[in-house]
Amino acid sequence: MTETFDKRDCPLCGAPAASARPLPYGTSEFHVMQCAACDQVFLDRLPPQHEFADERAWEVSSVSHAAQRKRDYPILVAAQRMTRWRMHITKREPKKILASHARPGPMVEIGCGGGVNLIPPPEGFVPYGIEISKSLAAAADAAFRPFGGQCIQAPAIEGLAAFPRGFFHGALLIGYIEHEFLPREALVALRGALADDAVVVVKTPNFASLNRRVMGMRWSGFRFPDHVNYFTPATLAEIARRAGFRAQYGWGDRNPTSDSLWGVLRTA
Ligand SMILES: [Zn+2]
Repeated sequence: MTETFDKRDCPLCGAPAASARPLPYGTSEFHVMQCAACDQVFLDRLPPQHEFADERAWEVSSVSHAAQRKRDYPILVAAQRMTRWRMHITKREPKKILASHARPGPMVEIGCGGGVNLIPPPEGFVPYGIEISKSLAAAADAAFRPFGGQCIQAPAIEGLAAFPRGFFHGALLIGYIEHEFLPREALVALRGALADDAVVVVKTPNFASLNRRVMGMRWSGFRFPDHVNYFTPATLAEIARRAGFRAQYGWGDRNPTSDSLWGVLRTA
């Protein structure tokens, strides 16, 4: 089977690959680019998607990534843990945020892994998931069935097409959109699967974070080649807008001292 390694056009605005400028991040194989037209930051090429169903699957790569960081930067990793503890930075629970904004009913997590973010579901919600990794999708499906939901093993756009239009009352995109090969198209597909008053909770590495500027290639948001899009508060809001959403940022959602960017998307 022949794989193509075409340079990517901008995944946000579609500007041609040749017009993007290189940023000083990446590997010998994969380079981080920034679109000259819209500022979106993205990896210049994609690894073959079929690999994600098995050998490059999240459960394999995230374990190796965490272990490697701990080995390469033991003091840095320890310092980050202590800072988090000292600052009393509490862990946000995506499903609670979603339940506080959305009407009870079917909710979907794209890139749901083994389903941990939705189990047990908040009162009145039915958990659904779309997950590309075969083993994780099977685990999530087994976890969701007792609550009346299911998990589909597929890329996002294909998986969303399996549901009626307007079906979901809410969605979680937690550590997903930075992995998506077609983020704008996937958001458009998600919009179609959502009710008009639905709410989406997003979490993704914040490319505008101070840590990225200070640590450069050692920033925890970089993961090559798994993270193929890197968002700032501005580019996340813009890609959401082009897919028919309004991005809203609450207190602490786009804190530049955090490595993570949170947001709530509402249908425009
Ligand atoms: Zn662009």
